[in-house]
Amino acid sequence: MISIIGITSIIILIVLAFLLLAKMEKIKQMQSAVDNLKNSLDEMDEQAKLIVRTDMELNKTQEELDKKITGLYSLQRLSRAISTTLEEKQIFNMIDPSYMEDLGFEKACGFLWNTQIQGFQLYINIGYTQDESEEIKSSVNANKNMYLDLIKTQKTISSSSTSSDMSLKNKINRTYKTNSFIISPLVPKEGNKGFLFVGTEKIDTLVTEGDEELITILSNQLGQALDNARLFENTWQAHQELENRVEQRTHELTLALDEVRKISKRKTDFVSSVSHELRTPLTSIKGYASILLAEKLGALPSEVKLRLEKINRHSDELAQLVNDLLDISRIQSGRVIMKRESHNLKEIINGAVELLSEQLKERQIELSVDMPEEANVSVDAGQIKRVFINIIGNAIKFTPPKGKISISVRKAGKNIEVDTSDTGCGIPEEARESIFEEFYRVENAINEEVKGTGLGLALVKNIIEAHKGKIWVTSKIGAGSTFSFVLPQEN
Ligand code: ADP
Repeated sequence: MISIIGITSIIILIVLAFLLLAKMEKIKQMQSAVDNLKNSLDEMDEQAKLIVRTDMELNKTQEELDKKITGLYSLQRLSRAISTTLEEKQIFNMIDPSYMEDLGFEKACGFLWNTQIQGFQLYINIGYTQDESEEIKSSVNANKNMYLDLIKTQKTISSSSTSSDMSLKNKINRTYKTNSFIISPLVPKEGNKGFLFVGTEKIDTLVTEGDEELITILSNQLGQALDNARLFENTWQAHQELENRVEQRTHELTLALDEVRKISKRKTDFVSSVSHELRTPLTSIKGYASILLAEKLGALPSEVKLRLEKINRHSDELAQLVNDLLDISRIQSGRVIMKRESHNLKEIINGAVELLSEQLKERQIELSVDMPEEANVSVDAGQIKRVFINIIGNAIKFTPPKGKISISVRKAGKNIEVDTSDTGCGIPEEARESIFEEFYRVENAINEEVKGTGLGLALVKNIIEAHKGKIWVTSKIGAGSTFSFVLPQEN
């Protein structure tokens, strides 16, 4: 009985032991499952943390990007404004606080070196009171060598840059009352250099590389704008100087012209009064000579008669000279008013040719006139006839016998042009202007033989110009000359 109980107990114990073992195995398995689960949970936790971190970084990058885009827009607007400004002071005025705020800074200063005072001058002041800016200026000038070195390196520095030392950064932040800053040199190619400071008091704002890039671009553009302004200023000054010089010269020339006019008037008055004085004795000489020649006071020996005839002829020539001189001076002084009326030029030319027909015949010179039937001009007929007499008379004088003279009249726009050509000796080029001056005669063999006063063409020129016309000559030595003049056609 006892052994049955014992065996049964042992069996029960064995079964229990097996059951226990099985349970333990299960617990072990469960423990491992729990461990696995814990590991998974830890991993998931890690990943969740990573996701949050990445998300935060993404947000930050997005923020950076937004900031950069706003900054770029602002920079673009600012660039456009400063690149179209051509005055140094105005360029700095363009940088207003709103642009700076868009770039993420509420404070800014701009300094340029002034060689005369050997110090920096403040051109931009954003975010500082008058006193504060004065304080900054003093500090900048007290440390001018540091800033001059910075300009020399042409490098932008910031509170975040690793290259610059901490004490310098702290010093700058103290000077400008900021927590973050960027300083970028302003280096125009010529002229005064300087630097641009931008900063913020905000503690949470860190200056990024992107910010440094933007401010460097801005300072480069300011440098270029300063160059443009200087170039413009130089050009403007040169222009002003030129204008002043032109004005001064014009003034001097006006004075000189007034003087010339005064002298010319004095000369005309002198010639006019001398001619008048000469006319009276001339008339009496001629009168007495005529009386004597007419032998009203008794018969004259032939020798005396010959000399009296000479006196008479020379008095006529002198009277002609005096009359021409008087006429020129009267026309020049405006005392002769051209009695302008409508005339057919053909009649005037015929009148002049008729007067000269004897001389033409004598020298066997052929004269032809080519002109439209009607060429009406509004002129003083008597004066224009004198013009033709002088021009044709000269042509006869300076053309060898059997030569040709041709007159052609044609319309030239609103004018009538008259060309009188001859086959005479021609006029040297250097004399073509001077022949219209009083008393000028070309020195040549013909002139040594042929008498003349050198007044004919001066009178012609004065008459033509008093009709608002113009006269000139073209010529070829040995081949002939063409005297041309234009007269305004009748309205
Ligand atoms: P003058 O005939 O009394 O010398 P003018 O004033 O009429 O004075 O002419 C000035 C000069 O111009 C003349 O002396 C002459 O040398 C030159 N001249 C004028 N007409 C002609 C011409 N048709 N051919 C050549 N020379 C001329």
